[in-house]
Amino acid sequence: MGSAAGAARQAAGAQGGVGPADEGRVTDAHSATIELVDTTCAVCGADDAEPLGVGEDFEYRTTPDSFLAVRCRRCGLVYLDRRPAESAHATIYPDDYHAYDFSAERFGVVYKVRRRLEAHRLLKVAEGLPADARILDVGCGDGFHLGLLDEFGPSGWRVEGLDPDPRAAARGEQIGLTIHTGVVQDCDLPEAVYDLALLIMTIEHVADPAEVLEGVRRLVKPGGRLLIITDNTGSPDFRLFKRRHWGGYHFPRHFNLFDQSSLRRLAGRTGWDVAELTTMTSPVNWVYSIRNTLDDWGAPKGVVEQFSLEAAPSLSVFTAFDAALNAVGRGALLRAVLQRPAGSSGQEGDR
Ligand SMILES: [Zn+2]
Repeated sequence: MGSAAGAARQAAGAQGGVGPADEGRVTDAHSATIELVDTTCAVCGADDAEPLGVGEDFEYRTTPDSFLAVRCRRCGLVYLDRRPAESAHATIYPDDYHAYDFSAERFGVVYKVRRRLEAHRLLKVAEGLPADARILDVGCGDGFHLGLLDEFGPSGWRVEGLDPDPRAAARGEQIGLTIHTGVVQDCDLPEAVYDLALLIMTIEHVADPAEVLEGVRRLVKPGGRLLIITDNTGSPDFRLFKRRHWGGYHFPRHFNLFDQSSLRRLAGRTGWDVAELTTMTSPVNWVYSIRNTLDDWGAPKGVVEQFSLEAAPSLSVFTAFDAALNAVGRGALLRAVLQRPAGSSGQEGDR
């Protein structure tokens, strides 16, 4: 396995962090300069990109380094160049990395609202699945989506997760969920058995998204589906904040960022048919773009704290705002439903 794949594994592992709940997030004690690697476009392979924005790890301050986001002139993919090497994994995903520490205790009403919304969204994509369907959540983290499917889906469904972080499997066991340890491009799971796979806020973290989509395709039945949800660079929030503070950069943890065109191209290249490709409402990138701006400009902490995943008022306002944008096809997230062509073998794809 090459270094790119290794970096992907590391990155994918980290986003599934299920570590102990954190107290206080930003400490300069974490600061360190990290090893970086050169990058080319992960969708079309070109090394022909224009600079877009420069930023820092505004949220965690794991490193004092600045990072450059570029856009491929050929296919439009936005990516970090250079990006953190595999060796930087432990630094850029500190133990208190909490993206997936999404507990009722910590997030209160936001947790309850998100649970209801997400359950509805998941059941919609799972419509029409057989009563004994097998579903795999790739990069499942603490099992949030698995729990929803288990609770709200038909009792005959078999839901499983896959995550490189062994803490995910341990946590799954505690709460009665099946979570395998590993990465999709190099795992022991049976081929062509899953009716539905999920890649929710995962693809942007991996170094080689093509390898991940090919890996998922091998596990999904011919005719089976894959739901991808990821940040949308075709959105107004990206356009407004792309020079520095865009929340979706999540510097330096989001290596590859898509719009509809580059995601469609990646799907085609990895042997998937595109069944649906739309945008989806989310307040998170709006809220974090504003938070990063305020923080970077030295605003008082009390003001900065009005913009976070724990700040229900700002989340509510931007949920409504982004819902209006989503209604005209410009929501903050991309939502793709891909389908493995019926009768396809595990091997093809026009790489
Ligand atoms: Zn490209």
